[in-house]
Amino acid sequence: MKSLPSGTVEAEVLSDVLGRIRQAWLDPAIGSPVQGLRAGTEVFGGQVIEAPTLGAVLGLPTWRMQELLGCQPRFDRLPFAESARRRCTLVDDASSAGAGDSREQRLLITDPFDTDTVAWARTRFGRLTPVLVSDETFDAWLAHCEAGLSALGAASLTGEVSGQASASATAEHIDLRQIGHGEGPAVRFVNATLYDALKVGASDIHLECGPSGLAVKFRLDGVLTAIQQTDDASLALQAINRIKVMAQLDIAERRVPQDGRLQVAYAGRAVDLRVSIMPSIHGEDAVLRILDRQHLAQSLAGLTLAKLGFDEPTAAALRALCRKPHGMLLVTGPTGSGKTTTLYAAIAETHQARDKIITIEDPVEYQLPGVLQIPINERKGLTFARGLRSILRHDPDKILVGEIRDAETAQIAIQAALTGHLVFTTVHANTVFDVVGRFAQFGIDAYTFASAINGVMAQRLLRRLCSHCAEAVPWPTEWAGDDADLQGLPRHQARLMRACGCEHCRGSGYAGRFALGELLRLTPTLRALIAERAPHRELQAEAARAGWQSLRRLALRAAYDGLTSLEEVDRVAA
Ligand SMILES: [Zn+2]
Repeated sequence: MKSLPSGTVEAEVLSDVLGRIRQAWLDPAIGSPVQGLRAGTEVFGGQVIEAPTLGAVLGLPTWRMQELLGCQPRFDRLPFAESARRRCTLVDDASSAGAGDSREQRLLITDPFDTDTVAWARTRFGRLTPVLVSDETFDAWLAHCEAGLSALGAASLTGEVSGQASASATAEHIDLRQIGHGEGPAVRFVNATLYDALKVGASDIHLECGPSGLAVKFRLDGVLTAIQQTDDASLALQAINRIKVMAQLDIAERRVPQDGRLQVAYAGRAVDLRVSIMPSIHGEDAVLRILDRQHLAQSLAGLTLAKLGFDEPTAAALRALCRKPHGMLLVTGPTGSGKTTTLYAAIAETHQARDKIITIEDPVEYQLPGVLQIPINERKGLTFARGLRSILRHDPDKILVGEIRDAETAQIAIQAALTGHLVFTTVHANTVFDVVGRFAQFGIDAYTFASAINGVMAQRLLRRLCSHCAEAVPWPTEWAGDDADLQGLPRHQARLMRACGCEHCRGSGYAGRFALGELLRLTPTLRALIAERAPHRELQAEAARAGWQSLRRLALRAAYDGLTSLEEVDRVAA
């Protein structure tokens, strides 16, 4: 193969052909005249159209790798996986004046005759100047960007990972090269969505069918975020079907909810996803919970209470509660508030070889060295209650019960705490004081509960402001909150910030989360008040005397110190 030399007859013929194509391209009404003609295509007896030739004929600038490497990709506007799938992307032009958003943006395209993609990009991003790059250059550049992205992710990881699962033979492999090519649009769409979700560290993927197509949302840092909307109803149906096939569900059944699991191989590791399909009036919705244990294990390696965001007094109090000879430490909060992670960190920090620790969990999320961990298996009858009974015969010193959600487990756990074991567990409740009522529902009387409990912590995760774009603001003058919540701190000295959004935080204004916990340590007076069922108000007053601070106060303090915004405080700890 050789390139077309300029000035030959072939070049003139080609120029004429391409001139007409150019007319068609400039006037979308004519439509795509040539299918499959692009840079790298062989024409006229084995000669190849090089990207610059094609670009020159079409009047399009053409970039090589050198120019591309000088540009900043805008994956915040057109995500990486979508770029790979559509074979086009957005970049900030390095040669234009200004910085950040004031720079001119360019639309990189690989196929100038793909009028659908060009039209789509114009609707979404306006009239950006297209720049032509060859397929080869585009792939190489994306691979380069991908390596950069994963290097960033790896930089924040510490420690060794143990017990990593290897991808099973049936796992679907999700990688860049596969997304761009081959198979049907639904397969590419699902793979790109999974890839993107794993890349950004989403915890859940929501695919929602509406009257006009499919909405894709990711749960990022605990907040559901719209990612993509397609108005292709047939793609919606096929994408849901594809997920059902991957999860080995019945694709013919569309009227009842179905649950399953699937596994994908991503970045050399196996990632499990729990799939839930729900019928709706517009078809079916799918929610995929990502159970990326290895990633979790990596992010938990070297885990400490301080790293989770707890202040030193709270961390010290938690460690003290973990060193008690017996009794119960309870962590409460909504789903996904990091309850178990806190217990892992507290145990990891205080674990000594002379203690025998046994856990029962659903599922085992993180492997603790030197700890016997048992996953519950309800299908085989290994429930929390049954597992806990067996554990007690195994002579442990400390026991972690992943969650108390039924009366039987509550009763065995309380008995264990009263008979010389230290029990760590979590329960669903809003505040530390609501926990008393929750155990009353499990049939535990107030006196027994007060005797067994050493401490209760209610926990929330708050989004941390992005350090690249947060903007200092004065404390609002019309703030409706109670000044007592600021504990006498002068408002004018607050380092309050607001969320803005930039490319580092995908426009959300936040990056990562930190934990806050209101911790109630039981004093003899508090035990007596709980045992005699004193009203919450009285408990709260006594707790405050003993140093307890409400979540709201702790959250406001975090906003005062510039860690998070007032909006986030109101969202999480109203
Ligand atoms: Zn930012």
